[in-house]
Amino acid sequence: MHHKTIAVAKGDGIGPEIMDAVLSILNAAGVPLEYHVIEMGKSWYEKGFSSGMTEEAKATIEELGILLKGPMETPKGKGMKSINVTARKMWSTYANHRVFKTLNGVDTVFSRAGIPIDITLIRENIEDTYGGIEHMLTNDVALCRRFITRPGSLQAHRYTFEMARKKGAKKVTCGHKANIMKLTDGLFLECFYEVAKDYPEIQANDIIVDDLAMKLVVRPNDFEVIVLTNLQGDILSDLCAGLVGGLGFAPSANIGDNISIFEAVHGSAPDIAGKNIANPTALLISSCMMLRFLSLEAYANGIENALHATLMQGYHTSDFGSDPAKKLNTTEFAAAVVKNLDLTALKNAPREVAATTVRSTAEIIPNHMMVSAPPATAEVNGVDFFVECTESPSALAARFDSVIPSEMELIMISNRGTQVYPHGSVLTECINQYRVRVERKAGVPSVSSDQIFALGAAVATQVKICSMEWLMSYNGQRSYSLAQGQ
Ligand code: NAP
Repeated sequence: MHHKTIAVAKGDGIGPEIMDAVLSILNAAGVPLEYHVIEMGKSWYEKGFSSGMTEEAKATIEELGILLKGPMETPKGKGMKSINVTARKMWSTYANHRVFKTLNGVDTVFSRAGIPIDITLIRENIEDTYGGIEHMLTNDVALCRRFITRPGSLQAHRYTFEMARKKGAKKVTCGHKANIMKLTDGLFLECFYEVAKDYPEIQANDIIVDDLAMKLVVRPNDFEVIVLTNLQGDILSDLCAGLVGGLGFAPSANIGDNISIFEAVHGSAPDIAGKNIANPTALLISSCMMLRFLSLEAYANGIENALHATLMQGYHTSDFGSDPAKKLNTTEFAAAVVKNLDLTALKNAPREVAATTVRSTAEIIPNHMMVSAPPATAEVNGVDFFVECTESPSALAARFDSVIPSEMELIMISNRGTQVYPHGSVLTECINQYRVRVERKAGVPSVSSDQIFALGAAVATQVKICSMEWLMSYNGQRSYSLAQGQ
């Protein structure tokens, strides 16, 4: 009998404890999988592997296509990049599918009020500030670039609607901040409604993310499937985890076309690591998502039934529950789930992974370029210079006016996004980095890159340039934001 092999990374902190607990349950249920445990995690980064995994581990995951993953640690404010984010991005797992569902036996404010929760959240998984592209523009100014792309947004939305259709969902809601970030969140929202047109049976609506956060707490039943950009999705996922009892109950799947990674929403919880007290439920439900993905539905159902029975019996780990007589450690909790497995029901479950779920390596296009239809017109209107300067806005304007050629003009100067020249308030506090916008004059055709570089060379004689951004018009539409107050 052929069993599919999947890659397993136990992770850091509580990772090995909860992974061992989950594998013990999968093995007891007779799940027809084999596990290739790979070298991946913080310790491998510290041994010099910059992606947090050995070359052999990377090759194994790329060959097997499925990774069941424990949480991995990332230091705050300094040090290594997140191994979790590297893995999601490197293998293009564009949709982070997270499920937040009331579990009988887990006491929450909502369960006590008789309000069942069943929310599926899709978090775009590659883009946004998670590009992690950050620079100190001056000693005082840190910049993070936030990329939202049309192909990336379309991928996440397409997955969301396909999933919603399969699930029989009636409504999909897009959360966003397009009232403020008109181009980035605006593009995400535009793509949402573009994809929604192909799913007329599903009601599509949108909501500003801060309002969404409030409504999720006040009226969680208003939401069925939610799709969000990466950071907003990350934050609201933890909010949703809170609705169903905490991070111990929030599973996730990172879905890509070639590789999919199944892991709990929570992290390595270093405060409780090594104590064998962590709750393995989130990783266990993530493993059930993986079994369903592999068409091993019967095992997923059997294991979830056993988990539900265990919770209903009142057994709990230390992060939830109130009966001290039924408080179990991680290993004991897994054993209680195993005890509730109905092995007779599982006996007739399929013993092989359905061929349709195994991806074909023949289809892989190296560094596949995702590009949408080109615009009818693309013109350069000018350039934004980001410069380091402690002079007043009008002194800076005079420096620019001395070098700007006759076909171009200084449009405005802003500081931290607020216009300070030619209009503005003397009460606007400034930092040592301005944006100076220079555009072609009315009637002058599109500016060339040569003209912009020549202007840059002239500006550099006056002030230190930190960075430059081309000002584009696509299809005759200004494709850059105005300054606050412009
Ligand atoms: P966290 O690891 O999710 O833990 C936050 C708190 O939630 C813990 O202190 C613990 O609370 C509780 N908790 C989480 N998982 C639990 C479980 N299975 N059982 C019981 N309680 C659990 O978040 P963090 O402390 O912000 O992050 C720690 C590290 O994990 C960081 O390095 C972060 O970068 C990383 N991280 C990794 C992933 C990932 O691998 N996908 C995801 C998120 C964070 P108590 O204080 O009540 O014990």
